[in-house]
Amino acid sequence: MHSFAYLRAGDVDAALAADPEHTAFIAGGTCLVDLMRLGVMTPATVVDLSALPFRQIDVTEQGASIGALVRNSTLADHPAIVEQYPALAQALASGASPQLRNMATVGGNLLQRTRCPYFRNGFASCNKRRPGSGCAAQGGEHRSHAVLGGSDRCIAVNPSDMCVALVAYDAVVHTLGRRGERAIPIGEFHLAPGDHPERETVLEPGELVKGVSLPAVPFFAHARYVKVRDRASYEFALASAAVALDVQGGRIEAARVALGGVATRPWRCPEAENLLVGQPPTRGAFEAAAAAALSAARPRKDNLFKVELARRTLVRALEGAAAV
Ligand code: SF4
Repeated sequence: MHSFAYLRAGDVDAALAADPEHTAFIAGGTCLVDLMRLGVMTPATVVDLSALPFRQIDVTEQGASIGALVRNSTLADHPAIVEQYPALAQALASGASPQLRNMATVGGNLLQRTRCPYFRNGFASCNKRRPGSGCAAQGGEHRSHAVLGGSDRCIAVNPSDMCVALVAYDAVVHTLGRRGERAIPIGEFHLAPGDHPERETVLEPGELVKGVSLPAVPFFAHARYVKVRDRASYEFALASAAVALDVQGGRIEAARVALGGVATRPWRCPEAENLLVGQPPTRGAFEAAAAAALSAARPRKDNLFKVELARRTLVRALEGAAAV
């Protein structure tokens, strides 16, 4: 491991005073420490944010406000989140292992980096790790890689479960930086790789995630997160879906649909949502929506199976949400 300086920020000003170009923020450390051990991330300074006051979970009639330092397990078990935003609680509970969920934070989960083995092994060509060096996954092993949102430069999957639910629930990410505060709709927070896979979010150097907020929408309680993976626990998604349905009088009035495990960023599916609205909540309607959600998929030889897997995962999630 490279040597580095460790600073514990006593307040926000101290955190923002750190040299933004050579600093990494740490909270739970479940992603950063891993990547530092592997030599993939080599910050000169690590600034510990754990003394900052971003630990609230406030659920009111206006919606939910969740601090960036809230632990994944705490949020997954919060009664109001379980009741009003069940897909978020289910997504969090499906992630990693109990030990990791007890350490990992909401802010860290938002910024979780890909599990692409070429990114993590430190030797292969990887545009995300070393811009311009190539992408070993394109001609190499890519079973777990993205079928949606990729580019010639990168096809790495965003690994977060939590973010898929946040996308379905229209979350807003709240940040703090030297230029002040920002409220960023989550659909604009993560970037597709395009020509610059090294840029994963719209965060500016030195900008901090303060928390996320969720709108108060009654039908968000009628929701489901379904995750399909190679083993039942401690595994990333091959395909996942977060959905919420507003069914009234036998018709779908509104829908929220997002996919995970198959795309380069948490993937909202407006074409599926549009198809669902006005339909009865039947398997036929769900299959048509799932087909629309995957219509832009561009699989490669090792991950052709993901298209059908994601379709079926989405149908299962929609059936689950309709039954709540
Ligand atoms: Fe790197 Fe992305 Fe290619 Fe993986 S898919 S090797 S992260 S550029």
